[in-house]
Amino acid sequence: MRFNTTKDKTQSVSFEQAVLKGLGADGELFMPVDIPPLPLDAIAAMKTMSLADISLSAAKNLLTDSVPHTVLEDIINDSFTFDVPVVSVTERISILELFHGPTLSFKDFAARFMSRLMAYFVRQADRKLTVLVATSGDTGSAVAQGFYRVPGIEVIILYPSRKISPLQEAQMTTLGDNITLLEVDGAFDDCQKLVKQAFVDPDLAGKLWLTSANSINIARLVPQSFYYFYAWSRLAPKGKPVVFSVPSGNFGNLTGGLLAKKMGLPVKKFIAAANANDVIPRYLQTGEFRPQPSKKTLSNAMDVGNPSNWTRIMDLYQHNLESIKDDIYSQSYRDADTVATIKQVFEKYGYILDPHSAVGWRGLEDYLKQSAGDTIGISVATAHPGKFPDIVENAIGRKITIPERLSACLNREKCPAKLSQKYDDFKAFLLHHL
Ligand SMILES: *Cc1c(COP(=O)(O)O)cnc(C)c1O
Repeated sequence: MRFNTTKDKTQSVSFEQAVLKGLGADGELFMPVDIPPLPLDAIAAMKTMSLADISLSAAKNLLTDSVPHTVLEDIINDSFTFDVPVVSVTERISILELFHGPTLSFKDFAARFMSRLMAYFVRQADRKLTVLVATSGDTGSAVAQGFYRVPGIEVIILYPSRKISPLQEAQMTTLGDNITLLEVDGAFDDCQKLVKQAFVDPDLAGKLWLTSANSINIARLVPQSFYYFYAWSRLAPKGKPVVFSVPSGNFGNLTGGLLAKKMGLPVKKFIAAANANDVIPRYLQTGEFRPQPSKKTLSNAMDVGNPSNWTRIMDLYQHNLESIKDDIYSQSYRDADTVATIKQVFEKYGYILDPHSAVGWRGLEDYLKQSAGDTIGISVATAHPGKFPDIVENAIGRKITIPERLSACLNREKCPAKLSQKYDDFKAFLLHHL
């Protein structure tokens, strides 16, 4: 399988190059040159297969010739070591719980798969690969946990001082070993600027082997298609049309679902549920794509004003708005809707949603009200409610238990190094540290 960018269809690169470079030479995002459908009987067979076997089947279909099948099998077995329950909550709604990984967010799927894949690509090399990431919270913790003690790889994560939650900070800064944290005296944008400058610095290019692990790497999208096949396979015996609702920010999770659909997964519709950051719902209504500065909401991992993966979705649908609308229904919800949904779903069904997953649930409920009565929905739950105790406890009016994995890291010693926003300081740190 070869990969080209959303803009330049004249040249293509190998999967290894796409993963290690992150972005194309034209600065655009990588996509598979073509997406082969899985045979119908291979999809039907998934009904009795495990998550690992389903993942392998989809991975082989996309990455044949790029990674040996035995290696894919090892990477998958080593990445998805946690439960992925599909919980039936009502007659028509099931929840796909993607939050049982190390950082209790769905980003663990991508981070764990990508780290092991990169380790495979650098195994033969005689030098270390350095992964640079700027984070505003969630990506950094998933990357830190995902790459922890992965051989041949050093990780350097920059985060804005005092601008992320104590829990997010503790999840990243208490690991040590090959994971180095830099607490930057500035905002997220300053962190991102430092990382971008390092990538184009010729002095560093000669001395260090740098790559990025942010949300636009194609290696993160591939594993995000697997769990759609899995969730569908658990409900397929009902023989009813299936829709997925995906709480979306950068639209990487949704893109994984659309990849699965291109590979042949029978999905009737995807619901892209957004918070007040409503660029995409507006685009689908009006045909005008208007990026905006991000707005702060209770579902803050979805606070994205210019979703980077949208160009991939446009590319998948050849910029045809009508065919995008055939597959995607999108709505925006306010924080008051988020809180009301957490409360109602708890009171009616005893199920506790986190603020992101609540947006997804609400989108699904609204869609199902207006669709044929036999349609069933899978609401994708992206984070454990225990990550957002204040919001959730306020909404349901009682205490919730924080998973031990989370509370434990709060008590461990944090070890970030402090950094100014000056590029020269960052460069000196990199040259000295590596
Ligand atoms: C990152 C994140 C999202 C948004 O996912 P995208 O792929 O950016 O659309 C939703 N929920 C949670 C909990 C997240 O961490």
